[in-house]
Amino acid sequence: MSITKEKIVEYAQNLGAVLVGFAPSSRWDEYGEVADAYRPNEIWPETKTVIVLGVPILLPILETTPSINYLEQYDTSNILLDQLAYRLAVFLTEQGHASIFLPRDGYGDIHVLVDKPVAAFSHVFAAKYAGLGTIGYSHMVLNEKYGPRVRYVSVFTNLEVEPDVVITKDLCTKCEICKKLCPSGAFTTREDQIIADMNKQACSEYHVTLCEEHRYPCGVCSKVCPIGQDRKLFNSKNISLYLKEREAITQDPNDPEYARWVHVRQHGSKGNRII
Ligand code: SF4
Ligand code: SF4
Repeated sequence: MSITKEKIVEYAQNLGAVLVGFAPSSRWDEYGEVADAYRPNEIWPETKTVIVLGVPILLPILETTPSINYLEQYDTSNILLDQLAYRLAVFLTEQGHASIFLPRDGYGDIHVLVDKPVAAFSHVFAAKYAGLGTIGYSHMVLNEKYGPRVRYVSVFTNLEVEPDVVITKDLCTKCEICKKLCPSGAFTTREDQIIADMNKQACSEYHVTLCEEHRYPCGVCSKVCPIGQDRKLFNSKNISLYLKEREAITQDPNDPEYARWVHVRQHGSKGNRII
């Protein structure tokens, strides 16, 4: 007997997945937004369903970016996601449903990304097609509960599972706070649509510096986005704090509003960066 959707969700949640969504592989053809070679059926022709798993990034740690603490959270989320996806793929395969997973971060190191900024498979589009959020100005998936502060991974299976509904109303308000505060100036507005043009190379080059300092990745566009109920939960609703951050810390590194973030940045990474 075929395994049920509920059983898959339960298994993934018991392993630690917080968000679980299901997209039929046909959705990539239906939407036509992703180049042919990057669609699930081109990568593995047996694919019938893509199961997308997500775990949240905890906002107060992200707020310390760029820092070793955020680096550790980011690396841990990647390890967790790859383990979740691997274990779910093996579980389904053992149940008689051939499955594989695509790793969270499919690149050798940051220098590779400068030359080749596109991954073999986009978990962003997978999350959109699995009904977990909409793609915002910053090219990230915005989820109702966690905004862009979710990391995703994908399992491909030959099992047909009832798909989740794609969210059609954009969660992004196009406030452009992410553009304003991006340290590499990577975003350029397109009048005709929500999603910005993105200079991925500029973003990657900034990450080379952060990587050398052991405070990678940047994550500012994720930190400052006002979308997400997690802001209320963490009592971090004052977006103007971000807007004034650079100027305030430059004027006074001991400014009490920012002291806790500066404190973390001063430990565990190379250099004396405080912003
Ligand atoms: S910060 Fe504003 S423009 Fe950027 S993704 Fe979030 S809602 Fe959209
Ligand atoms: S990660 Fe940082 S540098 Fe890259 S686009 Fe986002 S804010 Fe800009």
